Amino acid sequence: MYLDSFKHKGMRRMLVNYLREKGISDEHVLEAINNVPRHFFLDSSLDVIAYEDRALEILCNQTISQPSTVAFQTQLLNVQKGDKILEIGTGSGYQTCVLCEMKAKVFTIERFKPLFDYAKNMFEILKYKPKTSFGDGYLGMPAYAPFDKIIVTCGVPDIPQKLVEQMKTGGIMVIPVGKNEQKMYKVTKISNTEISIKTFGNFKFVPMLEERKFC
Ligand code: SAH
Repeated sequence: MYLDSFKHKGMRRMLVNYLREKGISDEHVLEAINNVPRHFFLDSSLDVIAYEDRALEILCNQTISQPSTVAFQTQLLNVQKGDKILEIGTGSGYQTCVLCEMKAKVFTIERFKPLFDYAKNMFEILKYKPKTSFGDGYLGMPAYAPFDKIIVTCGVPDIPQKLVEQMKTGGIMVIPVGKNEQKMYKVTKISNTEISIKTFGNFKFVPMLEERKFC
């Protein structure tokens, strides 16, 4: 059922070349994208377009981010082997697997139960072992804090203070900030009371909403 054919592998290599041309230069990010079969995370009817650079529908009216956005956010995180990374918005689990493939220790939160279950199944199939949580990402995972990095894959109106509190000093958070459209923020925690922010390009994410849902 989950077949990674030569054709899929070829399409993935072409996607990686395209991402390189678009300015993704972190070879570890490109290698992870080359290794994780994105089509596994999608309905089989989307198989032929799984490696196009577009966001695609998953369950509960949510989307798997487009590959260039996954690559861009992951590159901004500057992932190092062994990094403790918190992800808000597990969704299909694709971004989680890209981070696991880069040998990070990943903690991921999803608010929709069907997506939470779906992604957990994908982690088993692909043999990745992130720590998963069905809950509200606004609360983070205080029991496992502090984190080296935090990646948020849904749009927020403002930077959530609770997430800043769960960053290590020197840690990085990559988060799309804005109501209808978002700017990508790279937030660095300089000390317990100070952060610095760099902003990058415009993006369109599904919103980050409070509370768990069974959809
Ligand atoms: N990283 C995902 C992208 C999923 S889209 C992937 O690779 O497929 C964003 C996800 O964030 C959606 O699944 C949505 O349900 C989830 N989300 C929105 N608000 C949330 C919250 N407060 N806590 C946890 N997850 C949330």
